[in-house]
This record gives sequence, structure tokens and C-alpha cells, in this order.
Amino acid sequence: MTDMVQAHIDGALVMIGFGSIGRGVLPLIERHIGFERDRFTVIEPSAEFAHILRDHGIRHLQVALTPDNFAEVLRGLFPEGRGMIVNLSVDVDSIELMKLAQEIGVQYLDTVVEPWPGFYFGSTLPNAERTNYPLREKVRSLGKRYVGGPTAVSCCGANPGLVSWLLKEALLRLAADTGVEAAPQSQADWAALMQGLGVKGIHIAERDTQVSARPKPVGVFVNTWSVDGLLSEGYQPAELGWGTHEKKLPPDGHAFDHGPGYAIWIDRPGVDTRVRSWCPGVGPQFGYVITHNEALSIPDYYTVWDGPRAAYRPTCHYAYHPSNDAILSIHEMHGAGTRQPDQHILTVDEIVAGGDDLGVFLYGHAKGAMWYGSRLSCEEARALAPYQNATGMQVTSAVLAAMVWAAENPAMGFVEADEMDHVRCLEVQRPYLGRVECHYTDWTPLQNRINRFAEDRDEADPWQFTNFLAV
Ligand code: NAD
Repeated sequence: MTDMVQAHIDGALVMIGFGSIGRGVLPLIERHIGFERDRFTVIEPSAEFAHILRDHGIRHLQVALTPDNFAEVLRGLFPEGRGMIVNLSVDVDSIELMKLAQEIGVQYLDTVVEPWPGFYFGSTLPNAERTNYPLREKVRSLGKRYVGGPTAVSCCGANPGLVSWLLKEALLRLAADTGVEAAPQSQADWAALMQGLGVKGIHIAERDTQVSARPKPVGVFVNTWSVDGLLSEGYQPAELGWGTHEKKLPPDGHAFDHGPGYAIWIDRPGVDTRVRSWCPGVGPQFGYVITHNEALSIPDYYTVWDGPRAAYRPTCHYAYHPSNDAILSIHEMHGAGTRQPDQHILTVDEIVAGGDDLGVFLYGHAKGAMWYGSRLSCEEARALAPYQNATGMQVTSAVLAAMVWAAENPAMGFVEADEMDHVRCLEVQRPYLGRVECHYTDWTPLQNRINRFAEDRDEADPWQFTNFLAV
């Protein structure tokens, strides 16, 4: 493990939110980013972990950002108009922060397009407008105003984020393993490569196997990362990039009636929408189709256009098997029809075994299916850096890579992970990913049933979404 400083922040550094991800990023910033300690501020309304900031000699501004105060607070922290905002909070509107960062003239990055409170729960918006598609389209269209402006990285954690870089490595590996010459440079080259390889779809296939020695108490939602984050996105409608090979919409599935139309949504929560998927270690498994920015950015990036018509586009969605305690918590919450009174994020010290397998599962090509990704145990994470479990480390090291890339490329305007240099980003992140492995499998979603029941099967094409869906 090298402690090499990879990039320097020119000006002030402001981190918003000191939750599980903020705390985990801190030691990585100290190790790999050059910054002035007296110009590093963390904005965090809670005092729970203030002692860590005190121990590290970093200023804690104990305030909650709101629509009324965020501009004044942030402007005050960048008197010279130079530096970087790293937004790792919940309940603070990313789009407003991105606009402000352009006005101040500072780099910005976040891991999700987060709105102000009121969007995720108790909203009167119709379901189509509670999806991520309109949020992402808003960011993309705003970005056209700021071409060449200060770099603003939208949605760069593990997923969205890292998985887009892994996908590029996976495509090059698949090309090499199937004798296809590949040297893609532009977005169009990458899309053409994916089309040429015959990839019909991609799962962001994750299995979290981290367990604590203490059984999950009744009435507590237990997760390995933000409970608020999981429930916010989990109770948005399920949403996925929609491939050109798909023959029919799923039950209660809807196309969007505006924009480029690379995605569809399903009229049910993502944490109640299961698909058959595959991860190394366990093989076939269920995953939840929780909406995520990468399920939109990837199909958009890899669309091959024939005039106004999409000639090729992959299906793409998250297929997430959270930790056992989180599955149990979701089950309990569905049954009660209301949130548990308490919540808890498992710390690295509580976790006694397991890790996180996070990768891309490419299917429909000449070799059937391939999983390519990071396999990181909690024990490895513990040895790599303090304050985080395996899930956290896959996210925080992606934030680190995005900070380095933004510092090295300070005037790229709005970008997503698909548009960043995956080679450089993975160079920074790889020491924190455990084993990066490639697995081929002959599994298809038509295999393995314990007794036959009525189901909608497409025997002619195993890779139809209909065969994956298991609601
Ligand atoms: P967390 O819940 O542990 O921490 C969020 C922090 O934000 C809390 O400390 C909270 O006090 C703070 N906060 C709340 N309201 C605020 C306000 N008004 N102003 C300033 N701070 C406020 O969450 P986490 O696990 O650290 O995740 C942080 C964010 O990262 C979430 O949005 C989550 O969805 C996202 N995330 C992305 C990925 C990815 O891979 N892309 C992975 C994990 C988390």
C-alpha cells in the first residue's frame, strides 16, 4: 500500500456530511490528497463524531444546510473562490450545490443526486416524477450551461461511480477473451464496442455478506451504510435502463414520455422488486432493482444512435443483495408498513465476518455471462484504513479517485463516472478494492426452479428482462 499524495487541492476544502462515508473518506484524503489543514472544514449538523474531527485537527461547522442558508454558508468558506466541495450528506440538494459551485468557481463532487427533504417521502408527485430519470435529466441539461466550467462530478461513489470504470475494464477483457480488437477512445467507440460484443444487458450485481455477532434486534433497521440513503432510493419506484433487445415492458412498467428515453420505471418500490442475478461466491441469487444513477447513465452512454433512433442500447440496473440484517430489516418494514423506530449502521468493529462483492454482470454475449468486480472482505478493509467496513471502502476510495481526477482536470464542467478517465481513477482506487476478479458463468435466469409454477418465461431469449424479474 503506497501512501503517495496523488493530487493537491488548490484553495479551501469543504466536506458536507460526516456520516459513514464522510468518516471513511477522511483518512484516505489525509493519505493521498495534499491540502491545507486550516482550510479544511466539515459541515455536519450532528456532534456524534465531532471528536474524530477534533483529533484530526479539522474544523467542524455544526450546522444543517437548508435552502435558506446553504449559499451564504458555502460562499463564506471560499473567500478566494478556489477549492473543492465534497458533498457526502443526505437531505441537501445536489443540483443547487452544483449551480453554486459554478458561481463560486470551485470543483464539486457528490455520490448521488440528492434533493432537499420532501422528495423521497410524503411527496404528492406522481410516481414518474419520483424517479431518478427527471433528476438526472435536470443535471444533464444544466451541465450544458457550464461546459468548460469548474469540474463538477455527479454521482461518484461505488455505484454509481466505480462500476462505470469496472465496466470499461470488463469490456476490454471480454474483447480480449473473444478475439475482438478494441482500442476505444470516444463515447461512440465504447458504445460501438459494447454493441459489437453483443452485450444485451448489465446488472450492477452486488452481494453484501457482512454479519455481526449480535442478531438484529426487532424494531431496528440495520444496514452496512446509510439507512436513510437505502430507504430513500429503495422507496422510489424501481427503475432501469431499457435495452433495444427487450420485447415487452414488465407488468406495471412505463416508458418516460420526455427526453432521450433510455430508461423505464415500474410502479412498485425498488426494495420490493426482485430479479434473478448472479455473484461469485454464491452464484445465482436475488437482487433488488433499486433505482440508481448508473442504471441511467450507462444505457445513455452506451446507446448507438441511427439518426433519432436508438439502434443499440443495453438494459442496465442494480441487482442488490444487501447484508442479511438489511434484508431482514426490509422484510420487517414491509410487514409493519412503517419505518422502525431505530436504525443502526454496522461498524467495522461489530462485523465479525463477510465482505462485499460489487461488480458488473454482462450478459448475452459470446461467452454467455461474465461478472467483473471488487471482492473486498471486511477484514481487508479494516487493515487498509480506519472508520469503515468493506461497503464503505468501495465507496470512499471511489470518492478519493474522483477528488484526484477533479483536481487534475479542474475545468471539465459537469461529468459522470462514465465520462472520466477510468484508467487513472482505477489506478488511484485499486489498492482499496481487495481482489478485482473476472468470472464467466453459463448461468441464465431460466435455470434452477424448485417446482414449477406459472410464470412469464421467454424460452427463445434467456436474456429478456421478463426472465430475470421475480416479483
Ligand atoms: P449517513 O446517513 O451515514 O450520513 C449522512 C450525513 O449527512 C449525516 O451525518 C447527517 O447528519 C448529514 N446531514 C443530514 N442533513 C444534513 C444537512 N442538512 N446539512 C449537512 N449535513 C447533513 O450517510 P452515508 O452512508 O455517509 O452516505 C452519504 C451519502 O452518500 C448518501 O446520500 C448516500 O446515499 C450516498 N452514498 C452513495 C454511495 C454510492 O456508491 N454512490 C454509496 C453509499 C452512500
